[in-house]
Amino acid sequence: MTLKPSPAAALERLVVPKVDHVDLVTVKLPFVAPFGTSVYTWTHKEALLMRLESAGVTAWSECVSDPDPFYFYETNGTARHIIKDFLLPLVEPGIALGELEERFRHVRGHGMAKATIENGLLNLIALQKGQPLHELMGRPAKRIMSGISIGLKGSQAELLAAVERAMAKKYGRVKMKIKKGQDVEWVRAVRERFPDLRLMVDANGDYSLSDTALLKQLDAFDLMMVEQPLSYSDIFEHAALQKELKTAICLDESIHSLADAAAAIALGACRIINIKQGRVGGLMESMRIARFCADRGVGVWSGGMDETGIGRAVNIHLQTAEGFSLPGDTSETNIYFDEDIADPPVVLGPDGFIDIPGGPGLGVRVVPERILKRAIRWERLC
Ligand SMILES: [Mg+2]
Repeated sequence: MTLKPSPAAALERLVVPKVDHVDLVTVKLPFVAPFGTSVYTWTHKEALLMRLESAGVTAWSECVSDPDPFYFYETNGTARHIIKDFLLPLVEPGIALGELEERFRHVRGHGMAKATIENGLLNLIALQKGQPLHELMGRPAKRIMSGISIGLKGSQAELLAAVERAMAKKYGRVKMKIKKGQDVEWVRAVRERFPDLRLMVDANGDYSLSDTALLKQLDAFDLMMVEQPLSYSDIFEHAALQKELKTAICLDESIHSLADAAAAIALGACRIINIKQGRVGGLMESMRIARFCADRGVGVWSGGMDETGIGRAVNIHLQTAEGFSLPGDTSETNIYFDEDIADPPVVLGPDGFIDIPGGPGLGVRVVPERILKRAIRWERLC
């Protein structure tokens, strides 16, 4: 049997360049509308950005953590601490990115902090080589499937109006958030109005196994999947629930690594995985998980963290990787921000697909005046 090379091989071999300056910049952008989930409602995006400067080239990356630990244990504050005090000292010019990743394993968890550095270095290397990020990944350009995540709404009429707008834009699928008390009847209302819609739901861990009978009612609505119905850290109970449900379970919060994905698949805890590149520690681990899932017939898509244009561009490039078979949470910028910090904004083509931003690196241009306007903290680390 010949072993296939690692899907991230092209990135593992890249050499860490000498970096002259590293800054951490926190920006705060108002959302166009509040984004509600079963765990919290966010009204602003507070993003921790990293700025790398090397021989006159400037590269940005975005940490996908929130200012709070409501979706995930990492926060902008913990990421700043881990990057500054533990990860950045491990970065050494001349070593391979694969070796840097090995060094980072000494720090347990904190994938979002790790991904910030990895993505920043990848963007920097791509800019220095004059190559788009997907080309650096060894992946051909392709148009990306779009998808939209609709937060909890105050009324079913508001929800139906939001779904209608998404359908008019030809989004590849619609995800609606659910929570206890705002589930079966709300899904029924959407399904009755839009019988052919590619629809899925996301509970962000709001239910327990004692809600199995209720969750089984979702089987009536021909959903693509139900995302993270049970606890944010659970795999085992999802396996028990998947046996009871006709609808595929998708795991999001529970998957932090390739090992978690392997455990979930072996246990039968899910038939689909949502890869958030930050949550699993970066692009290289994301590519490994995606290939692993594809080899086992498990669907994969790229989740979103309501990123600014920097993180959004990373997710778009990632979706050129092998294994991304389903529409992700990649939607138009104007759903979130009136004015993003990077140009061009993400827009859907008339067919609902998204073009990869052209040009070297991420292909987006961070606008310095907008960073200055939105910055609430700026720290030079070296
Ligand atoms: Mg989710």
